[in-house]
Amino acid sequence: MVYEWIVVGGGIQGSTIAAFLVKNNKVTTDKLRIIDPHEMPLFKWTKSSERIGMKFLRSPFVHHLDVDPFSLRNYAVNHHRKKSEFYGVYKRPSLEIFNEHSQSLFQDLGLEASWHQGYVNGIDRENEMWCISTASGERLEANNVVLALGINDQLNVPE
Ligand SMILES: Cc1cc2nc3c(=O)[nH]c(=O)nc-3n(C[C@H](O)[C@H](O)[C@H](O)COP(=O)(O)OP(=O)(O)OC[C@H]3O[C@@H](n4cnc5c(N)ncnc54)[C@H](O)[C@@H]3O)c2cc1C
Repeated sequence: MVYEWIVVGGGIQGSTIAAFLVKNNKVTTDKLRIIDPHEMPLFKWTKSSERIGMKFLRSPFVHHLDVDPFSLRNYAVNHHRKKSEFYGVYKRPSLEIFNEHSQSLFQDLGLEASWHQGYVNGIDRENEMWCISTASGERLEANNVVLALGINDQLNVPE
C-alpha cells in the first residue's frame, strides 16, 4: 500500500502536523502513518517535562497541537477545569492540562490507527514515491513525507 502521508517522528511537531492533515481532510487515518520508536505520542516531551518537575508551560494557552487556537481553553471549560490551570498574563497552561488535551485530541481523531512503532534509517526517492526504511527492515511507501525528528535523538556528548 502507498500511504498519502508519512510523518517521521511522533513528538509535538509530528503530532501537530498529523492532526492538522486529518482535521483539514487532507488525509484519512488509514492513509497516514506516524513512525516513531516509542509506544505513545509525545513520549520525549512527556518524559523531559516530567523529569524537571515543570508545573506550567512557558508558552501561552493558544500554543498546542490543535488547529483552533482556543481549543485548549475550550477543552478546559468543557471539562470544568479550574482557572488555576492557566497561569499569569499569557495564561500559560498547566503541564497536566496541556498533556491531557494533547492525548485527547490524538484519540478523538483516531490517530492511534496511524501510529507505527519503528525507527526510520533511510529515505529514497523511487518511481516518484518516497520509500522509507526502518531499523527493523520494513519498507513503507508514501507520496508525501514530513520529517519531524526533533533534536533529542542527536545528542552531542562532549569528549
Ligand atoms: C523541559 C522542557 C520544557 C519545554 N517547555 C516548552 C514550552 O513551554 N513551550 C514550548 O513551545 N516548547 C517547550 N519546550 C520545547 C519543546 O519540547 C520542543 O520544541 C518540542 O518538543 C519539539 O518537538 P519535536 O516534535 O520537534 O521533537 P520531539 O518532541 O523530540 O519529538 C521527536 C520524535 O521523533 C522521534 N524520532 C527521532 N528520530 C527518528 C527517526 N529516525 N525515526 C522515527 N522517529 C524518530 C523521536 O524519538 C521523538 O519521539 C520545552 C522543552 C523541554 C525539554
